[in-house]
Amino acid sequence: MTDNFNRRNFLKMSGAVLAASTAGAAMSVSGSALAADTSAAIATGLKAALPKARGPRLVVVGGGTSGLTIAKYAKKEYPKFDVVLVEKRDMYSSCFSSNLWYAGLINLEFLANHSFLDGATNNGYTYFNATVTGLDRASRTLVTSEGDIGYDFLVLAPGISYDYDKIGVSDVDTMTALRQKYPGGFISPTEHVTIHRKVQEFEGGVFVQSVPGGNYRCLPGPYERACLIASVIKKNKLKAKVLVLDANPEITIKAKGFHAAFNELYKDIIEWKPNSAITSVDVEKRAIKTEFDSYTFDDAAIYPNVRGSTLIEHLGLMAPASKSTQKEANIDTRFYNIVGDPHVYVTGDSRPHPYSKSANTSNTEAHYVAKVLAARAQGKEIAWVSPRTICYSMVNANPMEAISVDAGYDYSAEKDAITGFSKDTKTFENRDTAKGQATLEWARGIYRDMFEA
Ligand SMILES: Cc1cc2nc3c(=O)[nH]c(=O)nc-3n(C[C@H](O)[C@H](O)[C@H](O)COP(=O)(O)OP(=O)(O)OC[C@H]3O[C@@H](n4cnc5c(N)ncnc54)[C@H](O)[C@@H]3O)c2cc1C
Repeated sequence: MTDNFNRRNFLKMSGAVLAASTAGAAMSVSGSALAADTSAAIATGLKAALPKARGPRLVVVGGGTSGLTIAKYAKKEYPKFDVVLVEKRDMYSSCFSSNLWYAGLINLEFLANHSFLDGATNNGYTYFNATVTGLDRASRTLVTSEGDIGYDFLVLAPGISYDYDKIGVSDVDTMTALRQKYPGGFISPTEHVTIHRKVQEFEGGVFVQSVPGGNYRCLPGPYERACLIASVIKKNKLKAKVLVLDANPEITIKAKGFHAAFNELYKDIIEWKPNSAITSVDVEKRAIKTEFDSYTFDDAAIYPNVRGSTLIEHLGLMAPASKSTQKEANIDTRFYNIVGDPHVYVTGDSRPHPYSKSANTSNTEAHYVAKVLAARAQGKEIAWVSPRTICYSMVNANPMEAISVDAGYDYSAEKDAITGFSKDTKTFENRDTAKGQATLEWARGIYRDMFEA
């Protein structure tokens, strides 16, 4: 049985999303606002130790889902490109599928047994392990911790950062303690290791999983995690509950499927609290306040609101608040270049579009942007193509059962905005083992697409 996603659903789901990113109308912000700010850092003059470019140099920042896919496919689309992928991590491990590790459905190798070196060798580009710290757009120079890199085209895909201010945590002491002791688990692998330990060592009591407001990363992710932590509690017969403090009035995606899992599989374990945006956290007392209530917990994964990566702001590429309330990039709706600068692009979860911030969105978007870059390197333009959000959520561990969604998006030239889900958008909310298996196959497919030739 499939449900047709229609405009009402898009608005219901993306009410919060759109509120967070009013990308539409303001997309036509003139470039002038940014023109003045072309050098967010002066080139150091210290050249990065890289081979001389043998063609137009495309530099891609960020070895995540978006950056890895662009580095590979831009080279495929236009082999003359000399592609350099700049990534600050020296070890890859995926965010997507990390929830499955907590319930023992996969091992760490599943997430991390992928080499940046092999991805580069298999696909004819250069992996450069460095942290980007600045950008001089006037001289088209990227400043990194390992020296400057000249570019003809630059793609920034740095992912997201957390916005603890939005959950009432503004003092750096509390934020640091919270980030360290009760991490959100939606950015870095070290957070995943901490949450994995917490779940494996949990002996009972209350485990809080928060769900932020706005257009946060991986809309179903926190609900999937609640189900999988509850499956461990069930298996270990612990006297415990998972308290889901949800800032939203309703589950933000695949609501029917998750409500069914909560009620049918985890009736006495999962307690879901809508309209429960966190307003403060006392880390030492393990106490949380929301607008209407206060709670104490034994352990937690506190997922705060998200924003575009702080790198985007640092490089002077952030959209005005009228365009994005999540400090995302100031880019063209269809072609992802910084408004007024056809040499610099921002893709992935730092985009301001009301798309679901997910790996499949970033991967399919990257295939398209690779074509945009290849065309522009040859003085051509191509037509806009919608990214695809295909997302499986594992709601049961034994047997492995999942629900899923397959969504596309509509673009309005009149508004220069993304206006809704495309007509062929569908959800598959009856959990079953076939989708359970497909959840693993989907992830393997993304790893192959990013790392193999
Ligand atoms: C728990 C969890 C479950 C998820 N489940 C799913 C799912 O089931 N399906 C789905 O489709 N998506 C899922 N996602 C979402 C998905 O992982 C992300 O949306 C996707 O990875 C975003 O890709 P990205 O390239 O924009 O960012 P990222 O993958 O975060 O990559 C950004 C990269 O940029 C690098 N970087 C940042 N700053 C710098 C700098 N200054 N210099 C150099 N490098 C830098 C970072 O190290 C990182 O490697 C999930 C995410 C999480 C956390």
